[in-house]
Amino acid sequence: MKTINDFNFKNKRALIRVDFNVPLDDSFNVTDDTRIQSAKPTITKILEDGGSCVLMSHLGRPKGVQSEFSLKHIVNNVEDIIGVKVAFADNCVGEATESLAENLKPGQVLLLENLRFHEEEKKGDQGFSEQLSRLGDIYINDAFGTAHRAHASTTVVAQFFENTKCFGHLLAQEIDSIKKVMETGEKPVLAVLGGAKVSSKITIIENILDKVDHLIIGGGMTFTFIKAQGGNIGDSICEDDKMELALDILKQAKAKNVSIHLPIDVLAADAFSNDANTEVMDVMQIKDGWQGLDAGPKSKANFHDVVMKCKTILWNGPLGVFEMENFSNGTIELGNSIAGATSNGAFSLVGGGDSVAAVKQFGFKDKVSYVSTGGGAMLESLEGKTLPGIAAILD
Ligand code: AMP
Repeated sequence: MKTINDFNFKNKRALIRVDFNVPLDDSFNVTDDTRIQSAKPTITKILEDGGSCVLMSHLGRPKGVQSEFSLKHIVNNVEDIIGVKVAFADNCVGEATESLAENLKPGQVLLLENLRFHEEEKKGDQGFSEQLSRLGDIYINDAFGTAHRAHASTTVVAQFFENTKCFGHLLAQEIDSIKKVMETGEKPVLAVLGGAKVSSKITIIENILDKVDHLIIGGGMTFTFIKAQGGNIGDSICEDDKMELALDILKQAKAKNVSIHLPIDVLAADAFSNDANTEVMDVMQIKDGWQGLDAGPKSKANFHDVVMKCKTILWNGPLGVFEMENFSNGTIELGNSIAGATSNGAFSLVGGGDSVAAVKQFGFKDKVSYVSTGGGAMLESLEGKTLPGIAAILD
């Protein structure tokens, strides 16, 4: 696996696919610059080597050229974060842009306009990819968030760089973290899967049963498993058409010697509302008119014990409706347990959508080993798929 550390960038122009798809407010101010911060180590290494950087990214989902999706809005943020003046090319391809790129001196940085202003980007168009390839001597993919897309800048462009392509620091870190959980993790290995639906996690569960010793299933997914085993789940969220599958997963887990831990009790509510009345109930005996919205005390204690005895931990999905304060405690306590296990030496990876939001919101970001920057890319990796953006560099 080639990374930026395998190259010296002196007098070289690096064409870097970064993920600068950052949230903007109505006045086009960046409200969360994590993604720009995450790209900094790669950019800094190249500049320190004596190279120059051409940065390319998408922003949002524009339909053609729409100025509200222009990357010019973030130029100042990029400058502040990397500490270098950033030039801006108002088209990501074309003669004028090629000339800006060619004239870059060592230590200089050029940011290209939104790739998705050209529909060829998402189509993975060959001609467009070739045009992009003219902008650099070495191609670097550092955008994990789009590594599961076979777009021009994430995948197709790589074919124009035979021995001059590599992973950026961020993408290499993401790949290493997933490997540490899925392949080389110290045992016992635990996956915690929460979130709303079995259907969105089914391929992950099936893939992961071959990798883990323990699997905690929490959140809304719980109730499909409980109902399938004859429990009364009241008004809790459930996918009836996935009950057979749930039973099959339990059977597969047994055959593979994986211990599955479901909640024992839940904090049930009489409405889907933060102000609802609440009561702790046995997970198999939730009263009619009530729904389980968070883990109960016995569940939390059991999950804590499981987490503390594991050496490798993957966490995807909240254990309850954490967006409502009164149902966030199961997720917070799980975060505390994982933070504790991590400080005892376990490796912990948090990835995929809402669990990342939860670790940030509740302050666990620096207490776990790694927080993934990719939502869909992370989920597809956990499903066991080889991401096209990664395959293109390995080719
Ligand atoms: P996912 O995107 O599949 O990880 O699901 C995350 C969502 O699951 C969050 O918005 C949670 O509010 C929701 N969720 C977690 N537990 C429950 C539950 N017991 N009932 C309903 N929704 C839940």
